[in-house]
Amino acid sequence: MISVQNVTKDYKLGKTIVKALRGVSLDIENGEFACISGPSGCGKSTLLNLIGCLDKPTTGKVIIDDEDVGKLNANQLAEIRNRKIGFIFQSFNLIPVLNVYENIEMVFMSWKDLPKEEMNKRITSLIEEVGLKDYLKHKPGELSGGQMQRVSIARALVTEPQVVLADEPTANLDSKTSKIILEIMVNMNNRHDTTFIFSTHDPIVSEYAKREINLFDGVIKSEIIEDRN
Ligand code: ADP
Ligand code: MG
Repeated sequence: MISVQNVTKDYKLGKTIVKALRGVSLDIENGEFACISGPSGCGKSTLLNLIGCLDKPTTGKVIIDDEDVGKLNANQLAEIRNRKIGFIFQSFNLIPVLNVYENIEMVFMSWKDLPKEEMNKRITSLIEEVGLKDYLKHKPGELSGGQMQRVSIARALVTEPQVVLADEPTANLDSKTSKIILEIMVNMNNRHDTTFIFSTHDPIVSEYAKREINLFDGVIKSEIIEDRN
């Protein structure tokens, strides 16, 4: 479980201070499929970066599994990122010289304790789940945007993280491909019970979420939770 408690984030920009988050509190339970929505500049990436232990809040706390991540050192933060969190980026962030299989295998670089056969099993089964069985040996340059984002989804899940964070995962995709990517994410959330938190400024994309946290100017403006009855 993730708990964001009274978090603010200021960025210094020359002599001015940008107040990107101005007091955000939020609990996310395991297995949720949640969206952070809101216009460009409202603080979505800032909030995801804090949850992803990529940055620290100016004030307030981010707690992951009862651990206040603000108290951890750089190595401990890296450990949490490697073990508990999967990342999906809007620009896919694949390595051009590596093929699909190798791009996913990459994330195991810092894992010394997983047998090679287990790695192989996980990678091939995820590649199949995202529908890229016939593209194992393809390099990113030989794939479409949608296919590259499928690779990122597999890469984010291969370490069996507790939570996957996706910052505007469909921003570089057309609307039809965006739907397909969202549907794959929904399936992965159901099948693996992995928590998903994604951000978007697109109302059509946020519709897929079971919970929508709407940000405006660095604060939560409203929250919509899907009626499950
Ligand atoms: P979003 O992802 O919703 O578009 P961001 O979290 O990226 O919003 O940004 C929130 C606010 O913080 C914006 O006004 C943005 O310009 C500012 N900001 C984000 N990152 C930095 C940074 N590294 N330095 C200065 N200002 C930043
Ligand atoms: Mg952003």
